[in-house]
Amino acid sequence: MINISNPIIGEEEIEAVKAVLKSGVLAQGPRVKELEENFAKYCGAKHAIAVNNGTAAIHAGLYALGVHRDDEVITTPFTFVASANPILMMGAKVVFADIGEDDFCLSSDALFDKINEKTKAILPVNLYGQIYDFDKLTDVIGNRDIKILEDACQSVGAEIKGVRSGNFGDIAAFSFYATKNIMCGEGGMVVTNNAEMAEQCRRFRHHGQSELTKYEYLDLGYNYRLTDLQAAIALVQLKKADDLNGKRIKNAKLLSEGLFGVKGLVLPKVKENYIHVFHQYTIRITEDFVSSRENLMNHLKSQEIGCGIYYPKPLHLHPHFRKMGYKEGDFPVAERMASEVLSLPVHPNVSEEGINKIIRVIKEYASK
Ligand SMILES: *Cc1c(COP(=O)(O)O)cnc(C)c1O
Repeated sequence: MINISNPIIGEEEIEAVKAVLKSGVLAQGPRVKELEENFAKYCGAKHAIAVNNGTAAIHAGLYALGVHRDDEVITTPFTFVASANPILMMGAKVVFADIGEDDFCLSSDALFDKINEKTKAILPVNLYGQIYDFDKLTDVIGNRDIKILEDACQSVGAEIKGVRSGNFGDIAAFSFYATKNIMCGEGGMVVTNNAEMAEQCRRFRHHGQSELTKYEYLDLGYNYRLTDLQAAIALVQLKKADDLNGKRIKNAKLLSEGLFGVKGLVLPKVKENYIHVFHQYTIRITEDFVSSRENLMNHLKSQEIGCGIYYPKPLHLHPHFRKMGYKEGDFPVAERMASEVLSLPVHPNVSEEGINKIIRVIKEYASK
């Protein structure tokens, strides 16, 4: 079976965890600090604050941006629910805007109409591993006081013109969940170039405690700390990040070469001057394809090829968000994409043989 995802744990990760266990420091300690330093350096950013998952990273980021009750935050409905829930956790309003069909990311044209005096921030998601259109969004924002939180949970190591993900907004959130490009089971990181915001995030992850005076609480906070056990794994993974991403990029290139020209398939587009790190390799099965997406999925599974739909239903059509008044037809592009997308295995453990099999099986199916 070629799985859709497959965490890669080597001897080095195992040894690193053993060393932490033997050290006796099991909660947040020196490995977390080292991870923060190395991660900031990796992103080319000034500050990195480790937290226990990507959702916590987004929550802390919104807190640092000063999002308050009744503020509005604009985001995409075509994402994992963790992009939107932290907005609600701040008591703010989730305002969805439609996506672009070329990059599956929040569309700056579509969101323009949603901007008003309540708009505090915009939360674009670097879906599947490619950064959103930063230049266009900053153009649209112009000189309004609107902050950007970059949901970089799927885009560690991605770039625009040599600048790495984590720098395309006022603050960025990463996830080290088990299936992400680098991982430690559960984990997250906030990245920013703003010292004040970094300080706010450190307080937020530790019950609002002052960095200077222990047991002095300045504001509401949570227990969002990462442990040294997890940081030890993430430190090893971070060293391999470029190698792991490189293998994904190579697999994606082979898939795109092999599947080129198959009628009814739309292959992923890499934007000019961008490095896409292919958290997912996602194709679209359009009406012109020989069969339905459902049938192709079943066929792939029968041939022991895993695949996945990210995401089968845009957020606004779930009961949770329908309660806020959203309904069918609100975001036609997101709705169509949800009915067309299919992600194929692209992770570093898929061999060239595996990639060739995926291509062969799809091509044979398409020519029936
Ligand atoms: C994984 C992910 C998150 C949340 O990360 P967790 O670590 O699972 O909390 C948020 N946004 C996107 C786009 C993700 O892929």
